[in-house]
Amino acid sequence: MRKNYLLTPGPTPLPPEVRAAMARPIIHHRTPQFQAMLKEASEGLKYVFQTKNDVFILTSSGTGAMEAAVVNILSPQDTALVVQAGKFGERWTEICKSYGISTEVLDVEWGQAVKPAELEKRLKANPKIKAVFTTLCETSTGVVSDIASCGRLIKDTPAVLVVDAISGLGAIDLKTDDWSCDIVVSGSQKGLMLPPGLGFLSLSPKAAKLIENSKSPRYYFDLKKVKKAFDKIDTPFTPAITLVVALNEALKMIKQDGLEVVFARHRKLAEATRAAVKALGLELFAPLDGSDVVTAVKVPAGLDGEKLVKTMRDTYGVTIAGGQEELKGKIFRFAHMGFIEEFDIITGISCLEKVLTQMGYKFQMGTGVKAAEEIFLK
Ligand SMILES: *Cc1c(COP(=O)(O)O)cnc(C)c1O
Repeated sequence: MRKNYLLTPGPTPLPPEVRAAMARPIIHHRTPQFQAMLKEASEGLKYVFQTKNDVFILTSSGTGAMEAAVVNILSPQDTALVVQAGKFGERWTEICKSYGISTEVLDVEWGQAVKPAELEKRLKANPKIKAVFTTLCETSTGVVSDIASCGRLIKDTPAVLVVDAISGLGAIDLKTDDWSCDIVVSGSQKGLMLPPGLGFLSLSPKAAKLIENSKSPRYYFDLKKVKKAFDKIDTPFTPAITLVVALNEALKMIKQDGLEVVFARHRKLAEATRAAVKALGLELFAPLDGSDVVTAVKVPAGLDGEKLVKTMRDTYGVTIAGGQEELKGKIFRFAHMGFIEEFDIITGISCLEKVLTQMGYKFQMGTGVKAAEEIFLK
């Protein structure tokens, strides 16, 4: 017998209510029943996005929503600035370049957050910048960015601010309207407690104007088509009906708690995780700008980081994430978002202690779990 624990930054575990909703019989999407669900979903998403703007639901993973953002607001040869502080910042650059957009990169050291002054300098240096692409929580490093400051710098310029909130939305604060975010994209399988398969995109009036003039090729992700259907509470193509039904269950749970309670829960889980790994003598990869979404931890010198993650998963059923690209084998990442709660963290830390001990790392057994429990008791 084996029980599995999913502590990865996407996909994340599913609440029983969400799983049960997906077992309902399928209904047709061009019906009043589904229209009511779509309406409920789009209103719930506005609450989570903290916006009065339209939030579109796309059938794709989060990256589809990222691509939709790029192709709908920019034309080939337009200039974009990408804040690149990890693998997901790089994805913005790759998408922009795929469409022939002249892409400037503001390179930030992995493990750090962009300094608003640096962004300001780059914006001033090139008035041709039409869009700035950022990441709320850079999942590859665990770092959270100061999007509010980015918004303040960009809102009075001709440029639009685009935020990848795929892992952060529904876990940490993101005030789409108050922080002047023109486009926010997200996905279903992280803080929103759903399986993968839905992308979300909010659109400000400033960004909507760009769509009229963008000449990038697009078909499936043409937001003009999406908006036209959306205005009639419809979708241009067959939506992921089952996932929309499940989305309403997840949104209901978030609304029942209220965003402030949801954010406070994530804060506490993150605090406990950070306290636990520090108590084990491990070092945080991002000690200054660590997010409340996912915690990246340095693998101690002399230990095989990939083996650590693999043993936790294959021997004990506790799945955490390793490092990506240049961080492969050098860090591991503990997610604490969505339907992950207190006792999942305790289990994860306990398993980490067990495997670290087996790998010969010296520390006092139980100190990590104790440190986490002390935070939870507060
Ligand atoms: C997971 C993630 C993505 C990629 O989303 P997919 O759903 O895998 O396409 C992009 N950006 C961030 C910050 C993420 O955490």
